[in-house]
Amino acid sequence: MAKAILVLGGLLPEEMRSLEGHFVVLKPTKDNDPELMLSEHQNDIVGVVATPSKPVSAQLMEALPNLELIAQFGVGTDNIDKEAAARLNIAVTNTPDLVTADTADIALTLLLGVARRAFESDLYVRVGQWFSAPMGLGHSLTGKTVGVLGLGNIGQAIAKRVSAFDMNVIYHSRTQKDDVPYEYCDNLIDMAEKSDFLVCACPGGEATHHIVDQSVLEALGSQGYLVNIARGTVVDEQALVAALHNKKLAGAGLDVYENEPYVPEGLLKMDNVVLLPHIGTATVETRTKMGQLVVENIMAHFEGKPLKTPVAA
Ligand code: NAP
Repeated sequence: MAKAILVLGGLLPEEMRSLEGHFVVLKPTKDNDPELMLSEHQNDIVGVVATPSKPVSAQLMEALPNLELIAQFGVGTDNIDKEAAARLNIAVTNTPDLVTADTADIALTLLLGVARRAFESDLYVRVGQWFSAPMGLGHSLTGKTVGVLGLGNIGQAIAKRVSAFDMNVIYHSRTQKDDVPYEYCDNLIDMAEKSDFLVCACPGGEATHHIVDQSVLEALGSQGYLVNIARGTVVDEQALVAALHNKKLAGAGLDVYENEPYVPEGLLKMDNVVLLPHIGTATVETRTKMGQLVVENIMAHFEGKPLKTPVAA
């Protein structure tokens, strides 16, 4: 049997070549028929390279009887049915840590972009509106409070960055962290009430589904901004659109959406939102390192060595 790896996305050409040196590499594209590819190679596929936007369901795992490993190209693994993977004895890996700095940078881009109206101002210049009137005013970051939802690797990198902007940091997660200088809020609504900016940096999945709902947005209030670099499912998107539409929220900066690449029509028409196409890790440097770690995990697994970055079931 030729061992095959099904690549659902992510890997750059160099890392693809590196895999091709050891495995048959299958990549569903617009030009081939993914279902035919899967049925032809069903018994050959021993590994899947997954990305956050591609669900890896129990059904897919069950259709691949020799699947041993799902190597996620990303840190969040909410797209993978991990219970099914554990039941079927399929190992899961991800690419933590090395995505942290770039994703935190995108949170800052969104925060600055929406509060200082940077992207709106760019458009203002390009379409010649500056000739008619000066651009309207934004809002300062200095002295404002950032509430971080999920103070993990990325949340802490965001906290460090906004601290350098002389902003005050508070945070909410399930557990209080011992080693950080920031105020802990054990209740998300209380944190939203105290925050000028609420920045989501927790994992996606069932436990955080719509954790930022209408009541949290109301607590953030009409002067508050929401920034989401976590997962679209963390925020109730309909409630967000309604809050922005009804001026119950000052603005939002989003890198992720509930149903990517679909972005609600309502958001597309608003000036006070910044919309990025899920580019938290989208740099040559980070995507290269992520791909290398994916390949290292695959090689380790099939050489019988310990996985570099296993994900607990
Ligand atoms: P991490 O180090 O595991 O941190 C996650 C944090 O979230 C932890 O501090 C955890 O603290 C908290 N948390 C977990 N469940 C929670 C809940 N139910 N309620 C409140 N807080 C909760 O992960 P990370 O590397 O920082 O990444 C965080 C997420 O960012 C990823 O899972 C991924 O979805 C997203 N991400 C997005 C991009 C992008 O391109 N936009 C890129 C990378 C990552 P407790 O355990 O104390 O609750």
